[in-house]
Amino acid sequence: MTQDFAERVGRVEPSATLAISNTAAELEADGKDVVDLSVGEPNFDTPENIKDAAKAALDAGHTGYTPPSGIPELKSAIAEKLHDDGLTQYGEDNVMVTPGGKQALFEVFQTLIDDDDEVVLLDPAWVSYEAMVKIAGGSLARVDTAPHEFQLAGALDDLAETVSDDTEMLVVNSPGNPHGAVYGDAALKGVRDLAVEHDITVISDEIYKEVTYDGVEATSLGTFDGMEDRTITLNGFSKAYSMTGWRLGYFAAPEDIVEQAGKIHGHSVSCAVNFVQHAGVEALEHTDDEVTQMVEAFDERREFLLGLFEDRGVHVPEPQGAFYMMPEIAPDGDDTEWCNAAIEDAQVATVPGTAFGTPGYARISYANNKERLQEAIDRLDDAGLL
Ligand code: PMP
Ligand code: GLU
Repeated sequence: MTQDFAERVGRVEPSATLAISNTAAELEADGKDVVDLSVGEPNFDTPENIKDAAKAALDAGHTGYTPPSGIPELKSAIAEKLHDDGLTQYGEDNVMVTPGGKQALFEVFQTLIDDDDEVVLLDPAWVSYEAMVKIAGGSLARVDTAPHEFQLAGALDDLAETVSDDTEMLVVNSPGNPHGAVYGDAALKGVRDLAVEHDITVISDEIYKEVTYDGVEATSLGTFDGMEDRTITLNGFSKAYSMTGWRLGYFAAPEDIVEQAGKIHGHSVSCAVNFVQHAGVEALEHTDDEVTQMVEAFDERREFLLGLFEDRGVHVPEPQGAFYMMPEIAPDGDDTEWCNAAIEDAQVATVPGTAFGTPGYARISYANNKERLQEAIDRLDDAGLL
């Protein structure tokens, strides 16, 4: 039978980050030793106290459906965390707990974006924003931060020229995937001014907020005057707590958005996994030391890898957060070709900058140990790629 697919699936490609990581896994299954620096996934086990909390929740029989927007204990812990970040506008009723941050974003786009509504992205931007906007039927406008070492401050004039009263939404991701930049307060205030002037709703994707270096802190966009009721704050447990496979995330937003998104949520996922939500409470309340240790380990790797690139004269805008960096591996060439050669000739998996809207670069995830990072660079050297 010839299947007549819905037009919306034809608008998007599979996730580049997940596809490359799958290729790496397949090569490994064939007996090849691949250094996988493609996917953004901490290589740490989930902290023991979180696993114990999940086991205890299972034993206590927390295995049924929960209220769609989450168990009250978790929503309360999330609201408290958001208050600690200065986001005092959010109470429990402003929180929607989702199976992963990705689902939270998907629900928000489905709830607010109609056909042809304009969504502005800051390039390089994480691959799934574009796909989610296209699935929702929206149109995209993009502002390139690459000429400014991925800093928003330098791109504010371009942003001002790009947004208009027709812009429905802007996505800000700081610390950012794929570049690791952390936007300063002056730049964020610039975003605020434009959002207020043009009445734009802003998604602040703060999934890497807990992962910053050099004493830098990532300010939550929703803390600025004028942003309280136009910011949707997104976070999750995958990155800070090394819980990628648990699938737990959330967004916080004005109550009417949570209510309307609740329809998409209720008709698609019902709720996040019950015992995982209980583990989420433990993560938020008792895991600060473990998070600090993981961030210190990422920091060591970041410095190590930056040094290796510097030794080889490869330009890398220095990341101050998340666990990615974007070396400019093909300033005048083809980054996709470079990444293909890296995996085929050196068995090193990376993601081409083109996937994020920024040709000439490759994204390296340094959520891997130092030995493997050194091995990757040695192999890329041997293959003549650096
Ligand atoms: N936002 C960004 C910028 C990400 O890199 C990710 C990673 N997948 C997510 C959201 C969603 O993560 P998760 O669904 O694992 O919570
Ligand atoms: N966000 C991570 C990445 O960019 C995980 C994979 C994904 O969801 O795209 O690699």
